[in-house]
Amino acid sequence: MPIDATQPYDDQNIFAKILRGEIPSKKVFENEFALAFHDINPQAPHHILVIPKGPYVSWDDFSARAGEAEIAGFVRAVGQVARDAGFVQPGYRLLANTGFDAHQEVPHLHVHIFAGKPLGPMLA
Ligand code: IMP
Repeated sequence: MPIDATQPYDDQNIFAKILRGEIPSKKVFENEFALAFHDINPQAPHHILVIPKGPYVSWDDFSARAGEAEIAGFVRAVGQVARDAGFVQPGYRLLANTGFDAHQEVPHLHVHIFAGKPLGPMLA
């Protein structure tokens, strides 16, 4: 079920459990600001999720409440994950579903990285 991006943070969400190591993930990157792991249901040949370490429900919550160092650290982590994976050439796509109409399902901010094939024109 899609979530309301303005709901309070729920520390029992699945990505919070992954961050705490309570459930496994196929980790590709971790630093003090971010964790990246393979999506369990890939929608492209390469599909990685990058999440901030802090408790942010959505892009809206993160962009409003996170500190400058957290924002910079997270944005740099997303770029580094894509660079380290070799996605820059030929290219990749970022997506952050936010709230009900975008069909955000997990109430912890995640940026999807899609790569590995021509992804076509952006869908809206
Ligand atoms: P959303 O629709 O943008 O919220 O995307 C949630 C994503 O999380 C989907 O692409 C799911 O396949 C993915 N996902 C859900 N549970 C897990 C998990 O336990 N590990 C990895 N990815 C997950």
